[in-house]
Amino acid sequence: MAGRPKMRPRRCGAVQLSFPTEAPGLKSTFVCHCSDCRKITASMFASNFTIDNRHLRHIRGQDNLKTFAQSHTIGSGQTMTNYFCGTCGTLMYRVGAAYPGYSVLRIGTVDDFELHETKLRPRLEQYTERRVRWLKPVDGLRQFRGMAFRSQSKL
Ligand SMILES: [Zn+2]
Ligand SMILES: [Zn+2]
Repeated sequence: MAGRPKMRPRRCGAVQLSFPTEAPGLKSTFVCHCSDCRKITASMFASNFTIDNRHLRHIRGQDNLKTFAQSHTIGSGQTMTNYFCGTCGTLMYRVGAAYPGYSVLRIGTVDDFELHETKLRPRLEQYTERRVRWLKPVDGLRQFRGMAFRSQSKL
């Protein structure tokens, strides 16, 4: 697909991003069960995709993003900065100091739900040892204990 899908918080629209759905701009799609992803989503896991920053466009609202950064619950031990919509509080993306040049976006914030099933469908699960026992592995996804991406080169 040549078009660039858009993502924005539902019912707000103050911030809008666009991104590619194929390599090289799209680096990875994954489910993460780490304790930080539970806290940041207020759920049991996060469904993420990673974009090379050179391919990420802020259509509007970049100055409306608020940030929160910390390192003590991050698997890499390095700072992770969260970018939230300043109007509705939706987490738009995260940037990890361990992965310079990349942003981790949320599949659930993408407007086109068809993409959740296709190009943005997760390809692996990580931190599976932290997965709640009432969830099963997703069919067909590679399973990783701990971080699947131990360095930028493995993104
Ligand atoms: Zn995580
Ligand atoms: Zn918003």
